[in-house]
Amino acid sequence: MRLSSPRLDLGAALLAGLVLLVLALFPVSVAEAQGPQGAPAVIRAIHPVEGQSPDLFAIVIDLSEETTFRHEVLTGPDRLVIDLDRSFVAASAQRMTGRSLPAIGALRAGLFMAGQSRIVIDLARPVLVERADFVRQAGVARLVVQLRATSAEAFMAQARLDSARRMTSRMARPEPPPDDQGDTRPLVVIDPGHGGIDPGASGARGETEKDIVLAIGLALRDRLARSGRVRVAMTREDDRFVSLGERVKFARAREARLFVSLHADSLAGEPDVRGASVYTLSDRATDALAARAAEKENRADLVAGLDADEEAKGGIEPILLDLARRETRAFGQLAARQTVTALGNRTHKTPLRGAGFRVLRAPDMPSILIELGYLSNPQDLRALVDGNDQKSLAETLAHALESFVLATSTPEPAAAAPVP
Ligand SMILES: [Zn+2]
Repeated sequence: MRLSSPRLDLGAALLAGLVLLVLALFPVSVAEAQGPQGAPAVIRAIHPVEGQSPDLFAIVIDLSEETTFRHEVLTGPDRLVIDLDRSFVAASAQRMTGRSLPAIGALRAGLFMAGQSRIVIDLARPVLVERADFVRQAGVARLVVQLRATSAEAFMAQARLDSARRMTSRMARPEPPPDDQGDTRPLVVIDPGHGGIDPGASGARGETEKDIVLAIGLALRDRLARSGRVRVAMTREDDRFVSLGERVKFARAREARLFVSLHADSLAGEPDVRGASVYTLSDRATDALAARAAEKENRADLVAGLDADEEAKGGIEPILLDLARRETRAFGQLAARQTVTALGNRTHKTPLRGAGFRVLRAPDMPSILIELGYLSNPQDLRALVDGNDQKSLAETLAHALESFVLATSTPEPAAAAPVP
């Protein structure tokens, strides 16, 4: 039977028939197939499958075993999101294989939260999931997601339903309590950008921004923890996705004295642009480069299949910049200046910049965003991936951030900072 064919260009009618047939032969429900504590399923490949009519096609996801999943659609831009529980994405499956289909734009796959993978498919035209079933085939659990072209209205209606469901589940989720109660040392929150499904910028040999900023963030955390003058927490400590709103919320819930977001940009066709820049919030970008950087970084939630409007409502409050405390902004600018001074000759020729980054919008918490360098510049890239350079960069940053935080914090009588 055609099921063993490695080619997946089956007709849609045939495909639907096969799903029914295979389900009849192997009537294994997803719930039964799933061991409660088993190893996570590995997502090995993602293929588009053409149908006999241009309106009908499928996305086929090969996994090592079955797992529970959900799908939803989002507008602005139109996307289809498939979440798979207890799973991770093999490197080979992070890009779609096989022929591309006209309805499908870019596809991204990766870890969305602990133990949960997400596949985000950009849609060139409105489509809806007609059905989605697992088909077992020679040791592969194959999730067949059948899609059918639809009207813009029907797509919009489904997106509204999915959005309402997300809002309900979000409200039910309790906030984790901040840790470190009773420790009065000022807190620095380090925010390594991107992660999981969102790799950020990339270098010539596939180096990713998410890995680089995590490595430097961890080195910075360790360095700050060693000297013990400030407390330190991170918005992510591994390769996972965290929304822009959650990053800010995490830091504000802990009353951080300083929020430091770490990034590393890439400029296509401009290999000579190099050096670090430090950004603070501004409603007017310093220049075109700053505007482009903010626009790119602010897209992180869209890349990961979130609804940007919902995130704006549920995460960062839409505060007017005027309402942000003047003191907060002055402190942020001071922290940025000190960081630029400390970075010395590592910096870009215009190192101090402003732009409308979403992660810098907390009204009550000085916040800076450091673009550590450009992955598109060979010299920057070499330094950013080198373990020793990462450590020395962390040392420089730690020194600057510590002295800023300590100089701007009023010591409290109960504070018993273990200064070595
Ligand atoms: Zn970034």
